[in-house]
Amino acid sequence: MTGFQGRHFLQIPGPSPVPDRVLRAIDMPVIDHRSAQFSELGKAVLTGSQKIFQTSGPVMIFPSSGTGAWEAAIVNTLSPGDKVLMVETGHFATLWQKMAMRFGLDVEFMPGDWRHGADPVAIGERLAQDKSHAIKAVMVVHNETSTGVTSRIAEIRKAIDAAKHPALFLVDTISSLGSAEYKHEEWGVDVTVSCSQKGFMLPPGLGFNAISDKARAKAKTGGMPRSYWDWEEMLKPNADGFFPYTPATNLLYGLRESIAMMLEEGLDRVFARHKRLAAATRAAVEHWGLEVLCRNPEEYSPVLTAVVMPPGYNADEFRKVVLENFNMSLGAGLSKLAGKVFRIGHLGECNELTLLGALSGVELGLSVAGVPYRAGGVDAAMKIFEDRTKANLAAHLKVIKS
Ligand code: PLP
Repeated sequence: MTGFQGRHFLQIPGPSPVPDRVLRAIDMPVIDHRSAQFSELGKAVLTGSQKIFQTSGPVMIFPSSGTGAWEAAIVNTLSPGDKVLMVETGHFATLWQKMAMRFGLDVEFMPGDWRHGADPVAIGERLAQDKSHAIKAVMVVHNETSTGVTSRIAEIRKAIDAAKHPALFLVDTISSLGSAEYKHEEWGVDVTVSCSQKGFMLPPGLGFNAISDKARAKAKTGGMPRSYWDWEEMLKPNADGFFPYTPATNLLYGLRESIAMMLEEGLDRVFARHKRLAAATRAAVEHWGLEVLCRNPEEYSPVLTAVVMPPGYNADEFRKVVLENFNMSLGAGLSKLAGKVFRIGHLGECNELTLLGALSGVELGLSVAGVPYRAGGVDAAMKIFEDRTKANLAAHLKVIKS
């Protein structure tokens, strides 16, 4: 954008704004990727990533977008003709399903209304019916970025276990990792797919696979023809902090910094902050008299909020007004939601005051664009922060007064 002073407000649900600290870390000379200095960097980011995925098992980092990491998960663990169970939570689940079909998988796609997450009960029932264990994998998107709905991964794991089903569990955490609570190992996930440009607060360009022993064993004896994505080819040099091909060195500098930032804040506090920002956003949306797309409060996304436009008003025209007048990008509605919803990202490098700025931009935009709304949504969001901060401070204030 030209003609604006100050920072552009990038309030889309990824790529998310990159913190200055990360930008400074990236702004370094490229080094020899076969040097001892690189090996230190490689080891630091590989072990650091394990902390973010919450696993003691291997995490691999590919120079790729999230789509590449989806592909890596499929080609290492599944063979053409394998039956897989996927759930239509929205646009991204549909894209992953299309990819699975292109690889010749026999996809059973549980239909969804794009307003709810994957249903653990329905998954459990389907698996219980599959007595011959024809289903080789259950594949779920944790945070459906197109709808702002977060599926309950720990409950789905329990449902798979209750059905005593041996299917692999593959989870897309592309827009949730580092923002919403996620525990690869404790939740018994076999392959967790993620990428750099959302909760990691990095530019696009890194794709991740965290894997279980079971998934690794499966890959050793099966999967599809592959080369670039082959886990064993990656894991061999990774043991010494190296990569089988030229890595995205400068993004790895950034990754080392972003991991440090997340661990300094503490993962629990990172997750609590995202939940707080999401609650304030919903308070604003509800006050404006608009509708949050997610129908199940248990599945509200801490990462983004998708907002339904009133009938007769086009979300893309509204987003254009906000961009052109207030220098803020809001997320578009995707595929069948195009023009019907806009999405407010509140992930990564975002805090109370940044979010209030963003919500002010939305409220101003509603007014300028002539969309019917009730003024005061930003006040409603402030009230959420005020109440929570006062509650946190209550004990401390008592000490000050006494
Ligand atoms: N899965 C989810 C949940 C996403 O949000 C995205 C992108 O936004 C993708 C997959 C695809 O990732 P990429 O665009 O990095 O290839």
